[in-house]
Amino acid sequence: MKKITIAIDGFSACGKSTMAKALAQKINYIYVDSGAMYRAITLYSLKNGLIDENGNVDVAKLQADINNIKVTFRLDDKTKLPITYLNGENVEADIRSMEVSGKVSAISSLGFVRRAMVTQQQELGQAKGIVMDGRDIGTVVFPKAELKIFVTAKPEVRAQRRLDELRSKGDMKTTFKEVFQNLQERDNADQTRTDSPLKKADDALVLDNSYMTRDQQMQWILERFEEVINKGV
Ligand code: C5P
Repeated sequence: MKKITIAIDGFSACGKSTMAKALAQKINYIYVDSGAMYRAITLYSLKNGLIDENGNVDVAKLQADINNIKVTFRLDDKTKLPITYLNGENVEADIRSMEVSGKVSAISSLGFVRRAMVTQQQELGQAKGIVMDGRDIGTVVFPKAELKIFVTAKPEVRAQRRLDELRSKGDMKTTFKEVFQNLQERDNADQTRTDSPLKKADDALVLDNSYMTRDQQMQWILERFEEVINKGV
């Protein structure tokens, strides 16, 4: 069967990655979490003193380093899900911290960072058979993707989901308010940045999953996938 490219974009913490991962597993496609790449660059910047507590970035130093920062993915033996590596080190847990979430917008708004990431993302998708989620996948990375989904959900629902995820990973400190604020700030930064802002591609299908279970979402996206495949693209 011919393989296609699937682009899933949308707001922060609306379940894009969960849906994209499950879909990729079901249809045997590669899954790439493009947000993990921006998070990894942010972690690198934090570790190397290239960003201060107010989010000011040492642009010249980061620009000098950018081509030597390698973000790669390896499949976990057990779960078969991708684990993010930063210059060979497993950073999957560290990139999900609130510290990284609080600084990532400052990094993802930099044009040279975006260009470096988009090049890597396009290379990963060259052979198709890929599900990639992010903010600019259907608009910039794969504008010709055969299936584009734009995911959204109510802000309170998203904040609660992200809080549940943090709790399940042992973070008992972060509050609902902090998560809610972080999501609002990131949505705003993502939508208003000049370089590839978050917006729905004209040919993307909208999914509001506020009141959907994971199974219902899966059903919905599998139907959309089959419609595209049956059209014989
Ligand atoms: O998807 P996730 O919330 O992990 O993404 C982290 C951050 O990376 C987002 O807040 C956004 O600023 C940035 N991002 C982006 N473009 C993408 C994916 C993520 O700017 N394609």
